[in-house]
Amino acid sequence: MPICWLISVEGNHKPIRLPHLQTVVLGRGPETTIKDKKCSRQQVELQAECNKGYVKVRQLGSNPTSIDSVVVGKDNVVKMKPGQQLHLVNQLYQYTLEFKVDPTGLHGGSKRPREPTLDDRDGHRESPNLKAAKQTDRVSVPVNHREATKTSEHVGHWNQGLKASMHDPQMQVYKDDLVVVIKDKYPKARYHWLVLPWQSISSLKALRDEHCGLLKHMQRVADQMIQKCPDVHSTHFRKGYHAIPSMSHVHLHVISQDFDSPCLKTKKHWNSFTTDYFIESHDIVQMLETNGRVTVKEGIIELLKQSLSCHMCHKELATVPSLKEHIKSHFPR
Ligand code: AMP
Ligand code: ZN
Repeated sequence: MPICWLISVEGNHKPIRLPHLQTVVLGRGPETTIKDKKCSRQQVELQAECNKGYVKVRQLGSNPTSIDSVVVGKDNVVKMKPGQQLHLVNQLYQYTLEFKVDPTGLHGGSKRPREPTLDDRDGHRESPNLKAAKQTDRVSVPVNHREATKTSEHVGHWNQGLKASMHDPQMQVYKDDLVVVIKDKYPKARYHWLVLPWQSISSLKALRDEHCGLLKHMQRVADQMIQKCPDVHSTHFRKGYHAIPSMSHVHLHVISQDFDSPCLKTKKHWNSFTTDYFIESHDIVQMLETNGRVTVKEGIIELLKQSLSCHMCHKELATVPSLKEHIKSHFPR
């Protein structure tokens, strides 16, 4: 049977083993190094079901524990799987799970065959126990992001897909010593590329001012991609980052503003590219230059639920299909 580990994404402490079917209570204290009084000493109770590949998370403390930004709720129990993000309290103290093959050779982990993006945040809303997240999306401070990246890496999980794609020559459209550009596997517009650094940087949270040069290079490469595009004179592009990305490994979206793609299916897809959830690349660089790190506004995830409106003329539309029909008028083929 696989062995289950709870991993601090910020690298605040070593992975904590969650033995099969045993309850483990975690919260403020030396084991987690959490000193924050808002975190109860008994904040969560965790029980791994190693044969099934998940952990049951019960919120014991009164301040919110969340999984993928959805609040568990006091005394509620929610299943957490590898690839999901647990925030112990108030959207802080981030953890992931890893089921590691044990010496008997059995395999843990799971694979997902479908697009692993924003919709996966909703995976838990089926649970009657869940309430929409109303907490802050502010990030906590990675202590040692390199180590965190290494320990939490779990190639094969859906949120690690970019790491495979960036090394796949079929997906690559440009590469140099610092970065690679790939086609987005589920493009949300006629042109949709992702610029990724070779350097393993798990997310925006791990960025520091020393990465400014790299990010500026990613921007320049994005601009070159845009300039080389045959429709450059008729299409407008934006380049930016999702405030809370679904996929691991920092990636800059370069996307044409026609949003003419069968892969753009949901309100979340739409809002993730047309609201402030999409943060312009130069704003990220500026934030890094000013503050030395990237923070996102409180409650930014709420933008994904916003009603649908055209990014060109602000007309409100009731459904994604009607919106897509409407935007054709702005971007005739
Ligand atoms: P996000 O993490 O929300 O900034 O977006 C991740 C992007 O990666 C989405 O636009 C997906 O369509 C795209 N994507 C997901 N899986 C893969 C993959 N395996 N290869 C390339 N692109 C992917
Ligand atoms: Zn319009």
